[in-house]
Amino acid sequence: MTSAVSGKTLPPSLWAVTAPSLAAQPPLQGDATCDVAIIGAGFTGLRCALGLAEAGTSVRVLDAREVGYGASGRSGGQVNPILRKTVEAVRAELPPGIGDNLVQATLSSGTALFDDIRRYGIDCDAVEKGWLQVAHSGRMLTKLQALRDSWNAAGGTIRELDASATESWSGARGYVGGLFHATAGHVQPLSLTRGYAKAALERGAVIHEATPVVALDRDPGGGWRLTTPSGRLSADRVVIATNGYTDALWPGLKATIIPFVSIQAATAPLTDEQQAQVLPRGTTFADTRRSIIYGRYDRDGRLCIGCIGSYPDAPAALGAFRRLKSGTERAFPALHGVRWDRKWGGYIAMTTDALPHLHEPAPGLTIGLGYNGRGVAMSAVMGRTLAARILGMPDRDLPFAVTPPTPVPFHRILAAALPAAPPLMALADRLDGLRS
Ligand SMILES: Cc1cc2nc3c(=O)[nH]c(=O)nc-3n(C[C@H](O)[C@H](O)[C@H](O)COP(=O)(O)OP(=O)(O)OC[C@H]3O[C@@H](n4cnc5c(N)ncnc54)[C@H](O)[C@@H]3O)c2cc1C
Repeated sequence: MTSAVSGKTLPPSLWAVTAPSLAAQPPLQGDATCDVAIIGAGFTGLRCALGLAEAGTSVRVLDAREVGYGASGRSGGQVNPILRKTVEAVRAELPPGIGDNLVQATLSSGTALFDDIRRYGIDCDAVEKGWLQVAHSGRMLTKLQALRDSWNAAGGTIRELDASATESWSGARGYVGGLFHATAGHVQPLSLTRGYAKAALERGAVIHEATPVVALDRDPGGGWRLTTPSGRLSADRVVIATNGYTDALWPGLKATIIPFVSIQAATAPLTDEQQAQVLPRGTTFADTRRSIIYGRYDRDGRLCIGCIGSYPDAPAALGAFRRLKSGTERAFPALHGVRWDRKWGGYIAMTTDALPHLHEPAPGLTIGLGYNGRGVAMSAVMGRTLAARILGMPDRDLPFAVTPPTPVPFHRILAAALPAAPPLMALADRLDGLRS
């Protein structure tokens, strides 16, 4: 291990500045072997590695760039323990029993994540003050109410807020009502990613940064061979945990997800007076717009706000940042004139059924991805599940169905058209406002 510190390839996010450092992990050099090789050092891969290392399995995690380079180090860090569809719709999509497992795993995903943080002593500014999910139109309020009824009937504790409570709890104008999810909260996402990495390393896992896996082949003698620019790794089993950063490594996998861009911006630390007017209860916030506005404070009172964008990096992303700033100022007039210090973005992985996917397309190869922008809590569920699966968890106990990787229809055209979508989504959101 070198004495250098991770952080060479990360975008200029707030998280890269405020996260505890992690020693740089050496690239794979030459030949090596392990029981399980994991591709992708984000929440999913590292939580899986931690579970396996705890069980005494020899595990190596390989990342093309560095720990947290993907969405995990760029995330809004909101811990949101609910899926985008009703419990009934989840059950209808999945085999009997698996749907119930996913519903229960989702309901407990926030608490389970905070338990992980305590158990492994991860220093990631965890805050458990809940989430305000607010409706920008009457139609969306009806949808939120249906979600509340459905998830509460399955054991959830979601509370409805009327328009006036929504405004006083959030400080935001123009919303017609909302939900309060008490078991939600937020974390510093890069700190959490590095915390998982540290916990896995302490339990014997090996991590290789700057190690893109460029070929993945079945070994004639059984097991797998992973080729990287400067080494070869033989492993009995392989996990792919690359989510929105999935490349062409496994044929067809990239076409199973739609790589939307999410962008983030952080203000300078707000004054106490400003903080009393914007998210005064320290909750997280997300609205129901197609282009979504979501936000939370960091530990120093900086407001971190995000929305859907066209490109992850400035300057291409500047149009979306302008939309984000004006939308945020409309919702929170107290923010007019506030300094915005940092801007960054990254890829999330949407799926056509709005559910995470677990694939086993070949013996000994397991893939988990597709969190639809709700991956902070759910990727930990996936990481634990992938580890448990490798250690022998039967199908009936899984919270995900094991499905073949199925390409999204017209994926290439869709992916090419994606950058045009956010301005149109924002326009449609403005029209909703005129209609209601
Ligand atoms: C700006 C932004 C804001 C978000 N906000 C929230 C939020 O508030 N709440 C929420 O729940 N979710 C949020 N998300 C989504 C959430 O962060 C992701 O779902 C989650 O981090 C996915 O984790 P992961 O480990 O599966 O993948 P990632 O963290 O994306 O990691 C994938 C890794 O795979 C590596 N990789 C890819 N190909 C290879 C290869 N061939 N060889 C080696 N390595 C490879 C990449 O370098 C990358 O590090 C947000 C995402 C973004 C981008």
